[in-house]
Amino acid sequence: MSVETQKETLGFQTEVKQLLHLMIHSLYSNKEIFLRELISNASDASDKLRFEALAKPELLEGGADLKIRISFDKEAKTLTLEDNGIGMGREDAIAHLGTIAKSGTADFIKQLSGDQKKDSHLIGQFGVGFYSAFIVADKVDVYSRRAGTPASAGVHWSSKGEGDFEVASIEKAERGTRIVLHLKSGEEEFADGWRLRNIIKKYSDHIALPIELPKELHGEEKDQPAEPEWETVNRASALWTRPRTEIKDEEYQEFYKHIGHDFENPLSWSHNKVEGKLEYSSLLYVPARAPFDLYQREAPKGLKLYVQRVFVMDQAESFLPLYLRFIKGVVDSNDLSLNVSREILQKDPIIDSMKSALTKRVLDMLEKLAKNEPEQYQGFWKNFGQVLKEGPAEDFANKEKIAALLRFASTKGTDGEQNVGLAEYIARLAEGQDKIYFLTGESYAQVKNSPHLEVFRKKGIEVLLLTDRIDEWLMSYLTEFDGKQFVDVARGDLDLGKLDTEEDKKAQEEVAKAKEGLVERLKTALGEQVAEVRVSHRLTDSPAILAIGEQDLGLQMRQILEASGQKVPDSKPIFEFNPGHPLIEKLDAEADEDRFVDLSHILFDQAALAAGDTLKDPAAYVQRLNKLLVELSA
Ligand code: ADP
Repeated sequence: MSVETQKETLGFQTEVKQLLHLMIHSLYSNKEIFLRELISNASDASDKLRFEALAKPELLEGGADLKIRISFDKEAKTLTLEDNGIGMGREDAIAHLGTIAKSGTADFIKQLSGDQKKDSHLIGQFGVGFYSAFIVADKVDVYSRRAGTPASAGVHWSSKGEGDFEVASIEKAERGTRIVLHLKSGEEEFADGWRLRNIIKKYSDHIALPIELPKELHGEEKDQPAEPEWETVNRASALWTRPRTEIKDEEYQEFYKHIGHDFENPLSWSHNKVEGKLEYSSLLYVPARAPFDLYQREAPKGLKLYVQRVFVMDQAESFLPLYLRFIKGVVDSNDLSLNVSREILQKDPIIDSMKSALTKRVLDMLEKLAKNEPEQYQGFWKNFGQVLKEGPAEDFANKEKIAALLRFASTKGTDGEQNVGLAEYIARLAEGQDKIYFLTGESYAQVKNSPHLEVFRKKGIEVLLLTDRIDEWLMSYLTEFDGKQFVDVARGDLDLGKLDTEEDKKAQEEVAKAKEGLVERLKTALGEQVAEVRVSHRLTDSPAILAIGEQDLGLQMRQILEASGQKVPDSKPIFEFNPGHPLIEKLDAEADEDRFVDLSHILFDQAALAAGDTLKDPAAYVQRLNKLLVELSA
């Protein structure tokens, strides 16, 4: 062993400490995955080297055949992984193996509960990588040197996986990384060729790089010779280049875990080879679970890009629209140049046509999932529905396709659950119904009892209930589906079309005529507060309701804009009253003008409250109401 200089002890970042502790306990039941994680890192390191060597071939000095070697020593209870990839220098080792760079990590750790089963899922979403070595090792030594640096620029990193780690500068003749795990007592099973071979076949067969183990010696148990013979144990070819029919589901799944840094199987995948004017392969996955940082602006997104089997970049964002940012996968192009950059990708017309083809593939894959495995699709919707809802605004061309993938809560659905699709809605339209009715609001509890729904309940017409923050904005982009218009039931003068019979309409006209006087009195009483007063056809039980003007912002958008400090254009509601309601009849008969004004304001404020709005002058409302109550009890 070479001389160590500049030795120092450094503390792990707090998050690393917490994560290490939790991980060791919650992933223990699946401990063999540590090997997959370390192999995955070694494979990434080789990909990076191969890519950097395109511009600087001298980086490959000392050997261009990249591989991973795994050896073990039963006596010493050690397991060693060695790669000749890009390697790390001292500063790299301190940064990469002492901290976690992902934003939102501290928040993520707060969510962990201490319940091992739950935490292991969460940690799986987070991705643990290198630190998983400490599940089976009580000490880990890393010897590494970055390609292109002198032998003296090597680093020895060492830790027991507790609070701190040591780094020292060393001489290292070969570039790349050697990791030595000192196995905990009880974990000797991993210092065994047969066991290792099985784990590699199971989790890492898809790794494109050869993974070598010392050749098994047959016959009597013999000592390993000083320099063993090596044999490749994995298939060592890029998975996506193989024909679909020859790839087993398990292989697709393990490959996903490698590129997706996920512990869980994906929900679905789509593997395609395109030939003709453009040539490329793609392998796209729908994850089963949202990563912890899905809503972080700088969270990783995009595909892994290869050009003729050479890894070129991670998180290539130009191949899919933002609303599909949760998709993981690989695209391997034969047309792009190996020195393609992010800037070039953004402008290249080839990318545009690949993007629209890949987008379609993803939408088709989701459509299939929804159709064939509705339960799984519900899971998908819970995780990623909010993101998919950005689609209609971003991707005009695929609006109809995206709309078909949306799921809503509904007056005919399971209580509050977003599980009604538009096709299902249309399949059970009421006799004479040619519109898709919806209501947006703050929460399910609020909208499900909204007075706006009364007439629909009476007539047995389904209304979609939209309560996500993004919904009103979404609906400003969705105007129709399958030739049927969307109608906001809280907006404008509700026209039920053929759903109202001729008799209904006639009766409505008559009532409107009869109540003209009341309308005028109310207009005077409510004054500036309302845009209009009219007789309502949408109420059966409530006395009054506020409708939004056809062109006005709804409550949700107004609240979002106000919260973000923007000026919201003034708009006044339309006051509609239910002519058959006893309170309205009483109001109509009220001779005392002061009383009439008080009552009208109370009805107006109540209607605002029922719509989920706040009152401009709550104290005045309370005063009026109390005045009335006193009169009642007098
Ligand atoms: P992740 O792989 O998700 O980034 P890890 O904790 O597994 O997280 O690894 C942290 C970083 O350490 C990697 O991103 C990489 O920069 C570096 N690293 C780990 N293993 C190797 C290796 N074998 N060769 C070179 N760098 C490595």
